[in-house]
Amino acid sequence: MASRLGHLPTSNNPLIQERLARYHKPENAFDASMIEERVSSADDLPQTGAPAIRYVVCVDGSGHEDQEAFERYPSTRVLYLQIAGVFIDLQHMQNQPGHFVDPARIADAIEASVVSGFLPGSYLEHEIYKDPVQAFRAETFDLFASTQIQRRSLLDLLCETQKYGEAADAAAAEAGELLLSKCPNEKCTLHKPGRDFAGISVSVKAETACPACGTALWPTDALRIWEAFQPDASNGECLGRTRDMIEHLVLLGVAMSFEELSPKLLQQTAFICDGDLALFGQPAPFHKGILGAWQALWARCQQNGLEPPLVFGIAKSGYPVEHLHGIQRFVPRRHLMRLDDKYMAERLRVKSLTETYFGRKLFYHASDGQLLVITVPPASGTAYGRSRTEDPSGLDRFPTLGRTFDLLDNVGTRLYDDAVIPVSLAHHWAAYPLANAERVLRILTERAIGKPIGN
Ligand SMILES: [Zn+2]
Repeated sequence: MASRLGHLPTSNNPLIQERLARYHKPENAFDASMIEERVSSADDLPQTGAPAIRYVVCVDGSGHEDQEAFERYPSTRVLYLQIAGVFIDLQHMQNQPGHFVDPARIADAIEASVVSGFLPGSYLEHEIYKDPVQAFRAETFDLFASTQIQRRSLLDLLCETQKYGEAADAAAAEAGELLLSKCPNEKCTLHKPGRDFAGISVSVKAETACPACGTALWPTDALRIWEAFQPDASNGECLGRTRDMIEHLVLLGVAMSFEELSPKLLQQTAFICDGDLALFGQPAPFHKGILGAWQALWARCQQNGLEPPLVFGIAKSGYPVEHLHGIQRFVPRRHLMRLDDKYMAERLRVKSLTETYFGRKLFYHASDGQLLVITVPPASGTAYGRSRTEDPSGLDRFPTLGRTFDLLDNVGTRLYDDAVIPVSLAHHWAAYPLANAERVLRILTERAIGKPIGN
């Protein structure tokens, strides 16, 4: 039997048309007064616009699951991930002569990854780790231990963020350990421990034996991504979770290096994540520590009498983006729309915010017309509240908003090109691949001391 859907495009199918008539078109559900009371001018923010942002660090991760890892065995798969990044100097337009990357070669330049990693996929047998899940865990550890983000490994950064995690995680991290909520060995008594189980402490530095069964444990097991690993099917989910986690660690790691080099330049830098400031799935609990690490960095800036650097995410797809395009006539240019919990839940249908997001979502209609859905971390506390009575969407909790909007206006239309954000930016300004850490640091050092260091 031929499918009834087979002959017509879905939208022309009479059956679908008839049934869809029972549903509201998104624009028919817009509530003008509900929108307007949440909209305000960026010029009304009682925030400093100084210092202006002069540098942008932007990362973009991608992942590929390659089939037929071994010829003639299409089910054998490998996972490959890449995090590329650029350091943008907003003081130098790309059309000026200079010694930065040629715009024609910029796509190649950002291909120079900050991180590139291999993970095993389905139907691969490791020569030592016979169990495929164990091989995946071992390789995840190897990737985090061997990848350096300037002066720190991904593992060091993971441990650093956990110092701001839940109390037990923070105490373990201070001792150079990560807490595993269970042992991965299904036969172990610690595989399904009771509710009040304190966790297994594992050194960040090396493999540890499970105290109950002796199975090899690695600190990266704490991410729990291995729980979704499928020895006999696609592992796109594991790949995506690992990539997202690393992307956020890279951004933080670069910020911490800049801080050591020159806090004065750090305050003039924006760190942009291509996507939301959020972690989904198994590693979601790590969002708390990442937020805490950014807040601690901000607090150190302020103790030194400096403004914090900017950090925010830009979402380019998903329902909130479509919604903003739908309601744009209610949001004038250079205006923002606050998205409180009620609007998030009732209009945008976003759930489980407290478990995942470390930035607060809001809409911005930039002065040149671009419509942006951004996530911004609060200076203290969590991005979303746990109780129904509090409303943590107050703009005073986000002291970097004013400068964020100024930057977005300044950057202009470049962000809504279809290209990923680092590429869009790199087409207009001097861009340096973040992978060339020495060069980026040298530029910053030159700026810090105010004169060029000999080539
Ligand atoms: Zn065990």
